[in-house]
Amino acid sequence: MKYSDTGAHYDAIIVGSGTCGATIARELSRKGRKVLLLERGENAPLKESLLGYAKVSNEVHVTDKLKDLRAFTTGGTTAMYLAVADLPPIEAFRKLGIDLTHAFEQVREELPITEIADEFIGAQAKKLGESARQLGYDWKKKLMLVDQSKFNSKNYYEVKWKARTFVEEALANGVTLVNRAVVSKVIHESKKAIGVEYTIGKKKDIQKAYGDKIILAAGSLVTPLILRDSGIRNVMNNGFYINPSIGLLGAVSGLSSAENFCGCMGAKMDDDIELMDANFHRFLFNVGMLVSAKPLRIASYPKHIGITVKVKEPVGGELTERGRFHKKLTDADFQKLNKGVAAANEILKNAGAKRIFKTSLISGGALGTIKIRQHVDEKLETEYHNLYVCDGSVLPDTDRVTPTLTLVCLARHLSAAL
Ligand SMILES: Cc1cc2nc3c(=O)[nH]c(=O)nc-3n(C[C@H](O)[C@H](O)[C@H](O)COP(=O)(O)OP(=O)(O)OC[C@H]3O[C@@H](n4cnc5c(N)ncnc54)[C@H](O)[C@@H]3O)c2cc1C
Repeated sequence: MKYSDTGAHYDAIIVGSGTCGATIARELSRKGRKVLLLERGENAPLKESLLGYAKVSNEVHVTDKLKDLRAFTTGGTTAMYLAVADLPPIEAFRKLGIDLTHAFEQVREELPITEIADEFIGAQAKKLGESARQLGYDWKKKLMLVDQSKFNSKNYYEVKWKARTFVEEALANGVTLVNRAVVSKVIHESKKAIGVEYTIGKKKDIQKAYGDKIILAAGSLVTPLILRDSGIRNVMNNGFYINPSIGLLGAVSGLSSAENFCGCMGAKMDDDIELMDANFHRFLFNVGMLVSAKPLRIASYPKHIGITVKVKEPVGGELTERGRFHKKLTDADFQKLNKGVAAANEILKNAGAKRIFKTSLISGGALGTIKIRQHVDEKLETEYHNLYVCDGSVLPDTDRVTPTLTLVCLARHLSAAL
């Protein structure tokens, strides 16, 4: 194995340029820090197309049958997300010794956090909402990270906030971004992190870079592996959660609609069951029909309405010696899913939907692989001095929310202390 040492020394090295990595890079660059941002994915322009998604998407098994989806590209998984923006669980973090209040105030000033205006909600989502409310569900608008001032009834993808914009700002402030850089290990001396090892693309030569602070932001299913391979083995076998989900879609005859911001509304039920609007805009609907082996439905997109059923399952599962994340869903988890599916079915039928079908089980996002106060402290620092973790891995399992807004706040909170 060949080693090459760039000799360069940075104030901070950030591993991963997704939601958290991008936010930290931007914040540190504003303070004039010398920052190296190492990103596994490429930097091609983001495009909402089959080829565009195929280039960045990556899946990893989290149960025997279920895979978790993520994006490897500059800006990380926000390249593919829906942009639903639940408020951060401030209390849950406060109990862990982290006060996100100030960070949230700053983020709220800067990001377009908003409910979708009635005029931009398509007939499908409206029909679904009416039906749910008729049946007594508290079907409400959700917040989204969408800049409606730039919306032109076509650019659903472009108006979603994406972490890539923060990377672009960081680059303009002098941050060095290296794409196709796969970080494998943290270099440490006497329990102090001093650098990282990485390879570029398929090349085998190991590169080394050194910095005063190392921040792992490679995502919840990568950061624990880097920690384990760097000698921090207590991150194994502590469990995680995936919020298992199922979609239900059906066709309402006579319905003809403009497109929709999927996820813009929803309702909570008892037993930790959530129902979410699954009225996709046309591109995502087409992808969904292809994945569900229902290509003939594509032609009748305007008639289709849909709901996602998402449930909370207990933390469980493990990261095995072979580096595999694995958990088993229980009968109780499937009972909750069935209860949610029955409710979704009732709402769809009440709206006049026919030919209703269920998608296969989906991972609602594997998170919480690392525990605050167990593997990292309140400063998000690991047992190695100057080594920090900030990404979906440290999200607590209490008060589970859609993660992006919380992660931007957490990354901003950490940046203030670095
Ligand atoms: C289809 C879909 C829809 C979603 N919808 C929503 C939504 O509506 N609202 C919401 O809040 N959340 C949503 N999410 C989830 C949300 O996008 C992610 O939870 C969030 O982006 C995670 O941020 P992160 O910083 O932890 O990781 P990521 O954004 O995944 O960033 C990790 C980065 O690290 C890089 N990386 C990985 N390994 C390495 C390595 N070894 N070396 C260097 N770099 C590495 C990756 O390429 C990536 O760029 C959705 C996710 C998906 C898949």
